[in-house]
Amino acid sequence: MDSNANLRRLPSVDQLLKSASAAGIIERFGRPALTEALRSALAETRDDVRNGHNAPSGETIMAAALASLEAGDKSSLRPLFNLTGTVLHTNLGRALLAQAAIEAATAAMREAVALEFDLESGKRGERDDHLRSLICELTGAEEATIVNNNAAAVLLVLNSLAAGREAIVSRGELIEIGGAFRMPDIMARAGARLVEVGTTNRTHARDYRNAIGPDTGLILKVHTSNYRIEGFTKEVGASELAGIARSKDVPLVNDLGSGTLTDLTRFGLAHEPTVREAIAEGADIVTFSGDKLLGGPQAGFIVGRKSLIETINKNPMKRALRVDKIRLAALIATLQLYRDPDSLSERLPTMRLLTRSQGDIDAQAQRLAPIVGRALQGGFSVSVISCESQIGSGALPLSTVPSAGLALTPMESSGSMLTELAAALRRLPMPVIGRIERGALVLDLRCLEDEAGFAANFAGIANFDMGPEIDKVGKP
Ligand SMILES: *Cc1c(COP(=O)(O)O)cnc(C)c1O
Repeated sequence: MDSNANLRRLPSVDQLLKSASAAGIIERFGRPALTEALRSALAETRDDVRNGHNAPSGETIMAAALASLEAGDKSSLRPLFNLTGTVLHTNLGRALLAQAAIEAATAAMREAVALEFDLESGKRGERDDHLRSLICELTGAEEATIVNNNAAAVLLVLNSLAAGREAIVSRGELIEIGGAFRMPDIMARAGARLVEVGTTNRTHARDYRNAIGPDTGLILKVHTSNYRIEGFTKEVGASELAGIARSKDVPLVNDLGSGTLTDLTRFGLAHEPTVREAIAEGADIVTFSGDKLLGGPQAGFIVGRKSLIETINKNPMKRALRVDKIRLAALIATLQLYRDPDSLSERLPTMRLLTRSQGDIDAQAQRLAPIVGRALQGGFSVSVISCESQIGSGALPLSTVPSAGLALTPMESSGSMLTELAAALRRLPMPVIGRIERGALVLDLRCLEDEAGFAANFAGIANFDMGPEIDKVGKP
């Protein structure tokens, strides 16, 4: 049959829209979207027919339209398996919330809540009221407020207490956290004049004393959360610094970064400064994150002296940096878990994942190795390995946690096989993210809780052709 006759056999968009299979698709995606998808599918089909292919059936064209609608509908923010070995991975969304926090957030999304309403008096309340007493109970601080994240907390504190004045920081603590969070830049944006004291490796008490003058707004201590200076070093401890600040009547602000509300050594992890310790050491203000070791949603906490927090709350910037009801609900539920620290390793996912034993993870790796090997159909060797997980997000930068996982090594040493495999894993219905290390794709299983879901999802890898054909994935 010639191609013109074949072209005439193709159904029209209207005919396809009236077909039985269209109804369900219209319900899911809407008529305009399906019309558009059918037009493109038909245009592609016409090209094929002109090139000598036979006219496909209406169903085939409909299936192509449906596949393109489904592909376009997949959110790029969809859930994935974090097998990077970094538990609090900033690029992968940091802490996973506790069930109680998820439920509280869901309820707050669905219903009206007394966000700024005092149920007792029937009068206007403040959104900080809900958290204040809980945070103070857990940290020993006098007063507390919450903002969007810890970067916002530092910005707001600097702007409230040191705008147009000087902020003193040790040269050893002028950190860059990643992204655009560099302490000197934040200072400039907050309107504070940075006064650097000491040297990169050594800062003495007299350096701070000599720098304090009539223009000093505050002294800032920053937890060097993502690096350590070792060797010939000297830093002024928080208690000593608090003494110096107090004697000159200047507030001491301690940016803990991650901070934690509980002593991590009870879980067999290295010691990370707790907020309670920082308050007890005499800091006037302590700032820390909600979604790092604390294990809650993104948030920034500012805790400390009542008079200073009152000043901070009067800053109009506070309104621009506040948190919404959903996160507030999740934060309260997360903090409530800290009232019973013994249950944290079970109920708080961050702690549960960090405290999983290497033996437990190794047993899981042994169970999954044959399943993963089968799915890869012989292209890769799959071995169980010991590895080291990182906490991430700048918490305890030098300490790792012994873990286990799978190393997927290409049978032939072709340079692109690994990156192609990594790309194929990212295209699974639930993407799998590992790390390429020493000639293998390593999947650290520390953060894998849904083992059955992982196995079922991984089976989808068999549908992928490694190599250049990989782009055709998903097309019918
Ligand atoms: C992570 C970190 C911040 C920024 O906190 P976010 O919650 O990511 O905004 C600030 N200071 C220190 C020391 C940190 O470690």
